[in-house]
Amino acid sequence: MQTLAVSLRDPESVFYAAVCCPVCRKAGHMSALVPDGGASLRGIACDHAYPISEEIPILLEEAARIRGVGDSSGSRKTRDVEAEPALSVIIPALHEADNLRELLPGLVESMQRLQVSFELLAITEPGDTGVAGVMTEYGGRVIEQTEPGYGGALLAGFERASGEYILIMDADLSHPPKFVEDMWAARGEAEVVIASRYTAGGSADMPGSRYFLSRVLNAFFSRGLGLKVRDMSSGYRLIRTDSLRGMSMRARDFDIVQEILVRAYAEGWRVREIPFSYAPRRHGSSHARVLKFGMAYLRTFWNLWKLRNSILAADYDDRAHDSVIFLQRYWQRSRFRYVTELIAGEGPVLDVGCGSSRIIGALPSGSVAVDILLRKLRHARRFGTTLVQASGFNLPFRDESFPCVLCSQVIEHVPKESPILDELCRVLAPGGRLVLGTPDYETWEWPTLEKLYGFFAPGGYADEHISHYSLRELIETFERRGFVHEATRYILHGELILAFRKP
Ligand SMILES: [Zn+2]
Repeated sequence: MQTLAVSLRDPESVFYAAVCCPVCRKAGHMSALVPDGGASLRGIACDHAYPISEEIPILLEEAARIRGVGDSSGSRKTRDVEAEPALSVIIPALHEADNLRELLPGLVESMQRLQVSFELLAITEPGDTGVAGVMTEYGGRVIEQTEPGYGGALLAGFERASGEYILIMDADLSHPPKFVEDMWAARGEAEVVIASRYTAGGSADMPGSRYFLSRVLNAFFSRGLGLKVRDMSSGYRLIRTDSLRGMSMRARDFDIVQEILVRAYAEGWRVREIPFSYAPRRHGSSHARVLKFGMAYLRTFWNLWKLRNSILAADYDDRAHDSVIFLQRYWQRSRFRYVTELIAGEGPVLDVGCGSSRIIGALPSGSVAVDILLRKLRHARRFGTTLVQASGFNLPFRDESFPCVLCSQVIEHVPKESPILDELCRVLAPGGRLVLGTPDYETWEWPTLEKLYGFFAPGGYADEHISHYSLRELIETFERRGFVHEATRYILHGELILAFRKP
């Protein structure tokens, strides 16, 4: 039940009064959904159950399970918890036998203090017998990397790790093993926990020139990519394993640590830095890593930049609110202002296709926000509104269950023949207000703006609009349904935001 208490944190949420099984609703009968042990929702008049992931109910038809058939009744995953360790420690360790021998006792001690089951994985190249010897001594395993470089080593480790969490650390004694305990304690707050030299309270004891270079590179890259991370190059991290699933990394060198962060943000995972004191390595020393990190990163910067600024990134709309591109910022803020004005006083809102917009955080108490993309919802958890993964073509809610329905910047992305407008009207209560936003393609301003926008923000929304509406067409469409047109707002005379009253 705890999962749900967190998920549906708004006690006034109309969620439970409105929610129903989407499979059964489509088939013509209503089955309300109730919590089933905290990890799923089950139908009260049917045998369907739906998982809850990251506190978000997954109410898609394809997510429906028939209860009792291969059902793990409430367990979040089907992994064999008994056999699998809680933590996989991945240590790129090419020719680091001597350092490993010093590192491992302290690491094992920390694990024992934490009382977590763990596995030790040292990644090296074939023939590194020294490392193999030490690992055998400590009951660890050696994994031979198939691709070169630090990135190649991490990828080999990720592939073989079976723990629920992965700890990555260097073998060279610059990462004190005791700090694992601090990171482990923070694992509930973020999926990626970084031991950070540069966040408040952290420190780095390294030669001045290397320190300077590292700070400059980190500041430049975190700003360039708009990531609120001060120590992007720290290779000491605790990562929840399933957050890495499905990420296919391009980097093979030290730049993989940045790529993991960019992809984590793109997927809506939480990243947290905790201050740590970086200790200088005892055996050997080099500026090499800092320089290599910089060079490798410059090579992949463009790819990471595109990924970071893609509309598919979980926090796209949230970031657009503060974009350095004036047009984008003005747009998001105008949309925010008009939408919040038009929903004001109408009661709890169902926001269909909420994305990661800050509007989610401004919805009145009791509201529910829906999107098809789980990564956007993961990001949106910070707004504290009840979130549901669902399709706008088959909303998992009873007829006439919300006094206000909002759908902004969605309908231009789906075919006109789709059932989305029917669905918006269906879940809206009689006398309720529909707030609908989409570009007006009958104005000359919109096509011009779209071209400009596509030019300044490649990878933005410009190429994604498949259905073109106009003010006239929308008013006619809704008047035919008996709706009364109540308000019209324009952003730069291109984006249209309309309010209609259902009879
Ligand atoms: Zn059902």
